[in-house]
Amino acid sequence: MSEVNSIKPYLRLSGLEPLIVRPETNFVNIGERTNVTGSKKFARLIRENKYEEALSVARQQVESGAQVIDVNMDDALLDGVQAMTTFINLLQSEPDISRVPLMIDSSKFEIIEAGLKCVQGKCIVNSISLKEGEQKFIEQAVICQSYGAAVIVMAFDEKGQADTEDRKVEICHRAYKILTEQVGFDGQDIIFDPNIFAVATGLEEHNNYGVDFIQATRRIKELMPLAGISGGVSNLSFSFRGNEPVREAMHSVFLYYAIKAGMNMGIVNAGQLVVYDEIEPQLRQLCEDVILNRNNENNEATEKLIAFAETVKATDKTEKKNDAWRSTSVEERLKHALVNGITDYIDEDTEEARQQYAKPLEVIEGPLMAGMGVVGDLFGAGKMFLPQVVKSARVMKKSVAWLTPFIEEEKRNNASSTTGNVKKILLATVKGDVHDIGKNIVGVVLGCNGYDIIDLGVMVPTDKILDTAQKENVDIIGLSGLITPSLDEMVNVAHEMKRRGMDQPLLIGGATTSRMHTAVKIAPQYEKGVVHVLDASRSVTVAGSLLGEQRGNFLSKVQEEYVRLQYDFANKKVVKDYLSFADAQANKVKVDWDSYTPPAPSFTGTKVFVNYDLAELREYIDWKPFFISWELHGSFPQILEDAKVGVEATKLYNDANALLDQIVKEKWLTAQGVIGFWPASRVAADTVNVHRDGSELELQFLRQQIKKAADQPNLSLADFIAPAEAGKEDYIGAFSVTIQGIEQHIKRFEAALDDYNKIMLQALADRFAEAFAECLHARTRKEFWAYVKDEQLSNEELIKEKYQGIRPAPGYPACPDHTEKYKLFELLGGEEATGIHLTESLAMYPASSVCGWYFSHPQSQYFGVGKIQQDQFKDYLQRKKMPEEELQRWLRPVME
Ligand code: SAH
Repeated sequence: MSEVNSIKPYLRLSGLEPLIVRPETNFVNIGERTNVTGSKKFARLIRENKYEEALSVARQQVESGAQVIDVNMDDALLDGVQAMTTFINLLQSEPDISRVPLMIDSSKFEIIEAGLKCVQGKCIVNSISLKEGEQKFIEQAVICQSYGAAVIVMAFDEKGQADTEDRKVEICHRAYKILTEQVGFDGQDIIFDPNIFAVATGLEEHNNYGVDFIQATRRIKELMPLAGISGGVSNLSFSFRGNEPVREAMHSVFLYYAIKAGMNMGIVNAGQLVVYDEIEPQLRQLCEDVILNRNNENNEATEKLIAFAETVKATDKTEKKNDAWRSTSVEERLKHALVNGITDYIDEDTEEARQQYAKPLEVIEGPLMAGMGVVGDLFGAGKMFLPQVVKSARVMKKSVAWLTPFIEEEKRNNASSTTGNVKKILLATVKGDVHDIGKNIVGVVLGCNGYDIIDLGVMVPTDKILDTAQKENVDIIGLSGLITPSLDEMVNVAHEMKRRGMDQPLLIGGATTSRMHTAVKIAPQYEKGVVHVLDASRSVTVAGSLLGEQRGNFLSKVQEEYVRLQYDFANKKVVKDYLSFADAQANKVKVDWDSYTPPAPSFTGTKVFVNYDLAELREYIDWKPFFISWELHGSFPQILEDAKVGVEATKLYNDANALLDQIVKEKWLTAQGVIGFWPASRVAADTVNVHRDGSELELQFLRQQIKKAADQPNLSLADFIAPAEAGKEDYIGAFSVTIQGIEQHIKRFEAALDDYNKIMLQALADRFAEAFAECLHARTRKEFWAYVKDEQLSNEELIKEKYQGIRPAPGYPACPDHTEKYKLFELLGGEEATGIHLTESLAMYPASSVCGWYFSHPQSQYFGVGKIQQDQFKDYLQRKKMPEEELQRWLRPVME
């Protein structure tokens, strides 16, 4: 699916890798330890010329999650220009550090300029200001701009540093106007530092500094929405030096409010932030009072915090398991259990509540719904994350299950009782598609918000979806899909809804879907409302808007946006230049076949792996996609220490590993796989002939047709197989792997009302399938095809594909035609080899399955075919010998 190509006004930084700060980007952590003024250790290392060790400080920052590194060499004992130059030059040759952008931090502009001269990506200058008047400010800004840097502007003018809200806003606004109107800066390249000053110093005039910063931030963002807001957070707690727990709590509380107001980056010690909701409640309350300057007449709040700080200092940090909540009221206990996802006491607490309330239903409508309301609010406010919500749902379900027999009983005795007007949402994965983790999560999240969910499961035909929707009179229909053919299926459903004259809104979600496709292809089929939902967290708001009073309003806003997308889409086509198919073929990858000897595999034909050792596969797991399936985004393992989601990510990771232990030990799942190699030769530009014993099979590939920059080839996977006329014996390989046996365990978790473990198990089965593919590919390179016998790569390097050769998957961008999967499966021995079944949309069932081709050539690489033109389509049609209409359907994603 193509997205709009317009460049959005986001702050775009780069080290070796880009960092784009989008509106939805979480708070950007800037590592503070490579600062001689803030770190005694770093200052000493630089002074003693121990640059190697100093680099390791930078590395630690990146490893613990810093997304930008602040470098400051302002020390009276140092030659700042020289230190900055040396350090940055060394740092740039360390790819694991220099992948993140730099922040060149100095109060001396000559040091900044020295840094700018060395930086290779797009950095941030910290800082310039109006301190010495407009002329100097402009001069410095022009220099920063000429190096392409973004700038931090400190709220500082000729009169001094801004300390009140009004002064901060006024100076920032003045600087913004000068930069954008006179210097020509883009708004998004300007970041304000409205000065974080120390609070709770004992001086009353300092008490409002936190509030001044937060309020100024809010106003600056309103006035100059493109600009960013940053600050050095540790200043805030300066008066609590030496008391880390209190400082960390103050920083978290401050950031909680400042981020809400619009602060989007800050210089922090990323490894050391505590999670807002984890702060001991009394301490949190005191910090809030101090930072928000509440209850603080005569320094009252300050003094309370100081008194409390003494006790924190005195007690050691070991935490006791806190069971105090067990002695609260039953309503409080139910709420606590829901919010914290604790099932241990849910039956007894539910029973106690049932006896107290007149009717069992009142327990649901009262304390349980109240508890789930809190969960929904915390989730909506970004204070709870998906895994926690799913755990809350488990508590809710267990409690409801306890009550259900009593409710039934009641109904029998009292025929008139009704269940009220709960809104119903129907969810289904469309026909031909088998994936449902995302849909299950959406179901749980919506269920937590009081909706009645009818989940029809996977591979659901249109008629079944719509018949059920009409029979059950549902309020919303939600469709999910992961592979591209599902997009067509969704268009069908929308079309059919119109034909049936339905009027429920239709929600679209899943990995292959996009706003653009929804706007351009699905929405025009059905006027009663089609809305793309990006992820589970948004589904609640969308459902709320659709079923609330503002439905009309909401739908017309969505419609307006979709019309704009349709327009963008229609107008985008003209922009690109394509080659004729013949020219594209002529511009193939240049490979010197004469001087190349293709490696021969150790066998030809197939090799089946039955019941592969799960313990071995476990070592190959790539965890990042696991966290993404739980809507926790970030690199692994850094995410475990992330300031915002680290605590939850760690719990999730521990739960996953505990379940993995059990899966492996008790052999819940079986890994079945097959690989194969065959002699192969390229017989036409994009056709590869596979030579099996006694028969030939032609594989068809597609070629990029977009006009490329000079010297860039128009790629086709066929280019990586030796042409017949080269007279060399070349080979192609293939694999498919699957994880069997999940169903019975899913059923068990469903019976136990345990969505958390059900989704966890599905996510882990997917991980095993991918790990299996990784493992067999590594063994192929080293052992079966053996073209790099001595490869020694860590799991991280495997995940980054640092090896020779590729394993492109049919249906993915380099070979987008799913129907070639038939050939792949035929070569590998069909369904019998592994038990994988291909659905009518060519999804693989069981869902945790992976397949692909193996290419060994050192130049082979992944790419996207992109859009193809009619001339290629005609040629391909001839080669494929398929009915035109059918081929068109399969190739729709790459045709204009
Ligand atoms: N480590 C990840 C790997 C999956 S994605 C995980 O555990 O989920 C990477 C795979 O997608 C590749 O191995 C390849 O099979 C496929 N792939 C990625 N880009 C591709 C492209 N452009 N064309 C074809 N296949 C591609």
